[in-house]
Amino acid sequence: MPRSIQVVMFDFGGVFTDSPFEAVARVGVKLGAAAGQIEAIMFGPYHEDTDHAWHRLERGEIELERAVREIAGGGLREVLVERVRALRDAGFATALVTNNVAEFRPHWRAMLPVDELFDLVVDSSEVGVRKPDPAIFQLALEGLGGVPPERALFLDDYPSNIAAAEALGIRGILVESELRETLAALDRLIG
Ligand SMILES: [Mg+2]
Repeated sequence: MPRSIQVVMFDFGGVFTDSPFEAVARVGVKLGAAAGQIEAIMFGPYHEDTDHAWHRLERGEIELERAVREIAGGGLREVLVERVRALRDAGFATALVTNNVAEFRPHWRAMLPVDELFDLVVDSSEVGVRKPDPAIFQLALEGLGGVPPERALFLDDYPSNIAAAEALGIRGILVESELRETLAALDRLIG
């Protein structure tokens, strides 16, 4: 019997990395800053000299890429990277569908072996369409060779992005901080 799922598509931030929303909240709490005080989160308590990533960057202790990574939300989830490799080995096509910023491209692309993991990357800043616009998923499905939506899975940490994909007939998995349930849901749906 042919399996029904052919392609698996992934969001990047909050999926391959810890949640940037939680990271911002954590840093905000640590700094004693109100949520939304982005300058404080980016630059730390600037009137002091601390171990905040920006201060370490300005002291030349770390490079820009690492500072951006630390400020923007933690390390790479290797377990998910391994799972994407296994999916490709098993014959699934894979795509990354990311809302992103052109200037961030060198930084996030340096975090994981993009060309090894994904058949296709759809970056909002390249295609001019961002989630939750359904057109971004249609671009991904076309780019993967015209795969029907019901043959695709999509993983994202933002519920309205999942809802937009599901409205097209794509099956969605909401990614939460604990990856165990995410990986179990993936296994169930591709089985
Ligand atoms: Mg995300």
